[in-house]
Formats: sequence, structure tokens, C-alpha cells
Amino acid sequence: MEDKCDYLFKIILIGDAGVGKTCIVQRFKTGSWFESQASTIGVDFCLKTCEINGKQIKLQVWDTAGQERFRTITQAYYRSAHGVICTFDLTKESTFDSTVEWMDDVSRFCSTNVVKLLVGNKCDMIDRRKVSHEVASAQGKSFEVLEYLETSAKENTNVNDAFIKMATELLKQQ
Ligand code: GDP
Ligand code: MG
Repeated sequence: MEDKCDYLFKIILIGDAGVGKTCIVQRFKTGSWFESQASTIGVDFCLKTCEINGKQIKLQVWDTAGQERFRTITQAYYRSAHGVICTFDLTKESTFDSTVEWMDDVSRFCSTNVVKLLVGNKCDMIDRRKVSHEVASAQGKSFEVLEYLETSAKENTNVNDAFIKMATELLKQQ
């Protein structure tokens, strides 16, 4: 069978439990919103093809399956990732503080040229915001991320954008 895919990129999501990683992946994958996500067992990934600058890009998006609760994500999860989306919950400051540790793991286990995004999710709950755009954006700079983005998986804000920005940058590096 003919394979029209020009590039395959592995993108992993990291961040504390409950920040909305699975909802983001679901939103990207199916375009829909599921209010509650079952804690899946084992690492899960989805494949989605998108076209960027006339090239067929296959994105293999990896979602943790609850291991983040126990910080038992294996190195295999990080290995050979081209892109990392580090996610926190804009309404829960502790999840923002944790991004430092998550990014530490990225420095230890990912290749040095991995493309990183910092994502503040649940931006639909603006009145419950605990982390300002300025502070998060500065944190992103210190992590040397491609960009800091605020998303809502619930209202479908910036979710596709995040993946497209990531894929566009990865394509540029080829
Ligand atoms: P995970 O543990 O990081 O995979 O987080 P989940 O995707 O399972 O989401 C955790 C909870 O946050 C669920 O109750 C979701 O409904 C909720 N949630 C996820 N994304 C959003 C969002 O963008 N806005 C709001 N208001 N809630 C969200
Ligand atoms: Mg999950």
C-alpha cells in the first residue's frame, strides 16, 4: 500500500495528573470533548496526519495513562520524542510549579534538540486563573520553549494550534 506520509514525529504530553492532557489529546484526535476521562491503563498514543507546507506529516501523540500521578513515567516514554508538550492547569498553581520537575526530566531523558511547548490549559476558567500570562511566559523562556500557549480543551481554544506550531517547527528542523 502506498504510504503518502513524508514525516513521522513523536510528540509526548507531560504534566501533573488532572491538568487535562488526555482531554487535549482527545480534542486533537477527534475534535470532540469528553467531560470525564477514564484513567487509562498503560501508555496510549494516537496518530493523526496533517498537511503542512504541502508535506504530509504524521503526528504520533503519546499520552500518559495515570503514571504521572506516581511519577513513574519510564525513560522509554521520553526516548525518541521529537516534541514535548508540558502542560499545567492555569487554575492550580501546584501544577505550574511542577513544570520545573517535568522539564528536568526532559533535559535528562530527551535529545537536546527536542522541541518544547509550555501549555497552560483550562483558559476557559478565566475567573479562577492562578498563574498570570506574564509569569508563565517567563517560565517558558527559562525552559527555552518554542512558545508558551494557553489552551482550553473544553472550548477548543488553541489545541490544534499547539500541534500545528510544533509540527511546523519540527518540519523546519529537517
Ligand atoms: P490528565 O490527567 O492530565 O489526563 O487530565 P484529564 O484530561 O483527565 O482532565 C482532568 C479534568 O480536567 C477532567 O475533569 C476534565 O474534564 C477537566 N478538563 C480538561 N481540560 C479542561 C479544560 O480545558 N477546561 C476545563 N474547564 N476543564 C478541563
Ligand atoms: Mg490522562
